[in-house]
Amino acid sequence: MSADNQLQFTVERHPNPTPADKIAAALVDPAFGRVFTDHMVTIRWTEGRGWHDAKVEARRPFQIDPACAVLHYAQEIFEGMKAYRGADGKISLFRPQENARRFRASAARMSMADLPEADFLRAVEALVDIDRDWIPGGDGSLYLRPFMFATETFLGVRAAAEYVFCVIACPVGPYFKGGKSAVTVWVSDQYTRAAPGGTGAAKCGGNYAASLIAQTEASQKGCDQVVFLDAAEHRWIEELGGMNVFFVMDDGSLQTPPLSGTILPGITRASIIELARREGLKVAETPYAFDAWQADAKSGRVRETFACGTAAVVTAIGNVRHAGGEFAIGDGGEGEVTRRIRSLLTGIQRGKEPDTFGWVHHIA
Ligand SMILES: *Cc1c(COP(=O)(O)O)cnc(C)c1O
Repeated sequence: MSADNQLQFTVERHPNPTPADKIAAALVDPAFGRVFTDHMVTIRWTEGRGWHDAKVEARRPFQIDPACAVLHYAQEIFEGMKAYRGADGKISLFRPQENARRFRASAARMSMADLPEADFLRAVEALVDIDRDWIPGGDGSLYLRPFMFATETFLGVRAAAEYVFCVIACPVGPYFKGGKSAVTVWVSDQYTRAAPGGTGAAKCGGNYAASLIAQTEASQKGCDQVVFLDAAEHRWIEELGGMNVFFVMDDGSLQTPPLSGTILPGITRASIIELARREGLKVAETPYAFDAWQADAKSGRVRETFACGTAAVVTAIGNVRHAGGEFAIGDGGEGEVTRRIRSLLTGIQRGKEPDTFGWVHHIA
């Protein structure tokens, strides 16, 4: 470590980087999470030594022992963020400090090593910088996946004494195939995602492992995503598998479930709350029951519903399927408020709208 206490990254460029014409071909309509850039960043942590061996290098497989702790007890956390190429050619990240802060919170909940926010940011910036040719223009972006897992070779049950932090990246287009204007969701009456006192507010792989059965059920019912209700009463709407949810009421106000500890505190969610209030809309963080949603969709009290997150941005929910039937929100398409919020948010992210909140972080 240097005197200013910052990690120094060694940089070893890929010996045979992907040629420009292959990159260009890969950036045409990439499927989400299948095409990766040439490099990765890794930092290791060992008890007694702290963070060390910060590296930017060619993307390659990890070598891990069969007794590697993460394979047995699932100490793993991640983040999801995007790098954008603005209309002016400038490269930017959206509120990356918030990802760095949430990553520390997730690590704390999972008893994992604490990565300083400055090091998280520098790792992400280093990858975006070296793989900048992979950032699509237009509506695409470079999805960044920082993550950390327990690497200690040990089968005992306790917090591991060794971790690897890593960042990889993939160019992405729209999350839902064909850029659908509204999705259909399945409300799971059987499975829940997070219980009080559990890990619902941490961005850990385990939450996703537990939610996949409900996502499979949703697909079998012809739905794009699953909506989870609370674990205690199976009554209150919490969020989707990987997205928060907002309701637009007939008085023009917005409503979203409160951060009760069982919901992932989305950065998109927080940004929409601030943005909507700036636009003069009322936003309430208040519990909303599934029964009420159904009744309000029928009476017209709920006009629109949308899901939000980094991957899917802002996506209208047009139809809702559940064990007792199905109902539509509004006319089943994308509503006016949803469209306006998406346009404001993506406008800020891509440098087309003024960044009045100072959310855009440019990369030199
Ligand atoms: C990542 C995630 C979100 C969205 O968070 P953003 O910071 O907006 O990307 C919502 N719910 C879950 C379960 C998530 O994992």
